Amino acid sequence: MKYQAPKGVSEYFPPRSYAFEKVKESLLAPIRRAGYKLVELPVFEETELFTRGVGASTDVVTKEMYTFEDRGGRSITLRPEGTVGALRCIIEHGLDRGALPVKVFYSGQYFRAERPQAGRYRQFYQVGLEAIGSEDPALDAEVIAIADAGYRAIGLTKYRLEITSLGDRQSRAAHKVDLMKYIDGLTLDESTRARADINPLRLFDDKREEIRAMMTDAPILLDYLSEESASHFASVQKYLQDMKINFSINERLVRGLDYYTGTTFEFVHEMLGAQSAIGGGGRYDGLMQEIGGQPLTGIGFGLGIDRALLAAEAEGVVNAEDFGVDLFIIPLGDAAKTQTMILSQELRNSGHRIEIVFGDRPLKSAMKLADKNGARYVLIIGDSEIESGMVEIKEMSTGRATSISLTSLVATLAQESWTL
Ligand code: AMP
Repeated sequence: MKYQAPKGVSEYFPPRSYAFEKVKESLLAPIRRAGYKLVELPVFEETELFTRGVGASTDVVTKEMYTFEDRGGRSITLRPEGTVGALRCIIEHGLDRGALPVKVFYSGQYFRAERPQAGRYRQFYQVGLEAIGSEDPALDAEVIAIADAGYRAIGLTKYRLEITSLGDRQSRAAHKVDLMKYIDGLTLDESTRARADINPLRLFDDKREEIRAMMTDAPILLDYLSEESASHFASVQKYLQDMKINFSINERLVRGLDYYTGTTFEFVHEMLGAQSAIGGGGRYDGLMQEIGGQPLTGIGFGLGIDRALLAAEAEGVVNAEDFGVDLFIIPLGDAAKTQTMILSQELRNSGHRIEIVFGDRPLKSAMKLADKNGARYVLIIGDSEIESGMVEIKEMSTGRATSISLTSLVATLAQESWTL
């Protein structure tokens, strides 16, 4: 019998998994540097958390959740996104009872039963953060800047940042009246109308060409912002400009989850075709309360690791070859094997990446393996090297060989940091 991974899941194995790791770490580093703290969360939650939190009008909730009954008869759902689970944790453990904002981050797998295609999977990976309890527009700019720094750290340049404001309750109420009037005049099928009744903004997000065409003259939320929302949004833009973060305003930007209010943003990569959103997020007033917490505002993002990796590959900025070991040691004979074991242990303890050859591989095949594994340097130890106490280290890219005494090897390599 031959097993295959379930349809539409993304999985990573060598050599590509190295690039995946690099992308993930690049996205995480700026988050940690800004003082956000890790939360490690369950991949499944009570279904109701998502229906309440993510929003009943969204595709995610209506069509895409992996929901099942557990053995105790409870309805359980594999997390389709990260925010509501993080907030549930914050509320449950009272993390929002201390100094605000609470700043947390996380990463892992998320699950949506979507139609699989390039860049769209049923299990995918995200890095995310949430900051709860501060309305300061500087926080919005910080959150956006952190995501931007992550993409820069990967080496991406061919992406753009789109932002908008979805306003506060007052702005949305005023807009909703006119938008509903506009939508009432459209000829819509039943399910689309039902979606519009729950959240009319959804129609801006509809992928069907005919709906897009119908919505071209619809009233735009940005024109209805309350004074407070407008000035908040202006401050966010000012901070971004001062931080030299390029952005454009996309007044039709609606995100796939219902909870967003105020500043909303998306990073879009030029080279990814249909699934071009590499990350996004925004502010959410009311979500904490919706799922049983204090009335605190929050802001967060979710960055798709799979798509950031595809973007990095499209731009040619991550190479699996860059992830080889520093030194590949090839022992010839039993005495050399023992020496190799000791040496690799010492060198690994001093932080170097060392691989050794196992079994009785002929030298030629061992050299091939070193090359295949992307080793930067190769060291061959045989009886004569042990006797003379001198070894040769060969740089794989140039073929240059350098003689070093075995006793000083560890110290030399540490000092020289591999530029022999
Ligand atoms: P969202 O939670 O929908 O705002 O998604 C945030 C980011 O996660 C998106 O910008 C994508 O990069 C990524 N993402 C969302 N859904 C998928 C999916 N089905 N497959 C791969 N990446 C996804």
